[in-house]
Amino acid sequence: MTRSISIFGATGSVGTSTLDLIRIERENYEILALTANENAAELARLAIEFDAKLAVVAEPSQLEALQKHLSGTNIKVAAGASSLLEAAAMSADWTMAAIVGCAGLPPTLEALRCGKTVALANKEALVSAGALMMAEARAAGATLLPVDSEHNAIFQSLQGGRIDQVRKITLTASGGPFRTWQREDMAAVTPEQAVAHPNWEMGAKISVDSATMMNKGLELIEAHYLFPVGLENIQILVHPQSVIHSMVEYKDRSTLAQLGSPDMKIPIANTLAWPERMVTECEPLDLAAIGKLEFEAPDEERFPALALARTAIEEGTGKPAILNAANEVAVAAFLEKSIQFLEITEIVSRVLDSYSPPKPTALDDIFAIDEEARARAEEMVEGMKV
Ligand code: NDP
Repeated sequence: MTRSISIFGATGSVGTSTLDLIRIERENYEILALTANENAAELARLAIEFDAKLAVVAEPSQLEALQKHLSGTNIKVAAGASSLLEAAAMSADWTMAAIVGCAGLPPTLEALRCGKTVALANKEALVSAGALMMAEARAAGATLLPVDSEHNAIFQSLQGGRIDQVRKITLTASGGPFRTWQREDMAAVTPEQAVAHPNWEMGAKISVDSATMMNKGLELIEAHYLFPVGLENIQILVHPQSVIHSMVEYKDRSTLAQLGSPDMKIPIANTLAWPERMVTECEPLDLAAIGKLEFEAPDEERFPALALARTAIEEGTGKPAILNAANEVAVAAFLEKSIQFLEITEIVSRVLDSYSPPKPTALDDIFAIDEEARARAEEMVEGMKV
């Protein structure tokens, strides 16, 4: 039976890995919508190859380029935020939410409202609007499958178990490229050094998040919403080899983990084929060649992003949305070489301290918090510009 698929963020790292997997069993899938931000040429190329019904660029200025690339085909083209929502409302059987940043929240929410299956890579949406997203998913009867390798590992380790049988969840972290660096040495880190992750090939934003360890902070919040075991029962453990992707300890002290080569196609394949399994061409895990697995406690002095994220979610207010928005602005400024590496978490910390909005109850509240936090972070970037 063919399944209909839509991919939000089709031109990105997760999006292209998803399409690589779809190529393996092409005949099983009908592609409804593919979206990008501004990369019209690549989006058009993918839309033609996969015979998509609709191609959407979020950036309206790229509509003309997209139209030109797709002229003479039957593929519909559209642009802008409302077109992303329309694409999500096409109600694909399986949707990949792989836009980077909170910009992915509206289409992800719309896809959840359709009540089908949503594979979630876009962690920023869950960080900013976790309670709302989970409530909408439940109300619509949608299936939310975690794509992030750690959360997918927890999801797999929970199969056959129940959340109320869990004592503790351990999120593993590679520690990023600066795991062994002194904090003062990180001051002069360049974007090129920060995006060079030792184990994973990923988009620029998540690579920088891994380098500051904000990625693990975001993942802590993500885990809190996806696996309600209590924040105090979610632990972070540095594991430089990225072989154990996360662990679940049950009440009886049995610990189940999911292992695999550090390749995002493995967790993506799990969500694409779920509840079945599909064949992939990923590298098999060769533990004899790896030799030994190492573990260490995270160092929150050198990587303050972890404590910032934990405090933000503990407060139970709109702080996670502030954390995420300020981080998005600061990471973009660092990638543009406007601020220094250590200033990323400094900005996030200062924006978090600068105000405390009440707990958001609606999407508009989240957008208002997001907007305010971005404005404050941008002001700080201006003041720090190198
Ligand atoms: P990339 O930067 O590689 O790709 C992002 C995708 O989103 C691109 O298709 C991009 O389009 C599109 N996009 C960017 N900005 C916007 C916007 N404002 N509106 C609409 N579309 C936009 O990111 P990744 O694939 O690395 O990451 C995607 C998400 O998955 C992130 O939330 C990340 O945290 C998460 N994730 C990623 C992993 C990885 O291995 N890469 C692992 C686990 C989670 P364009 O090409 O036109 O810019």
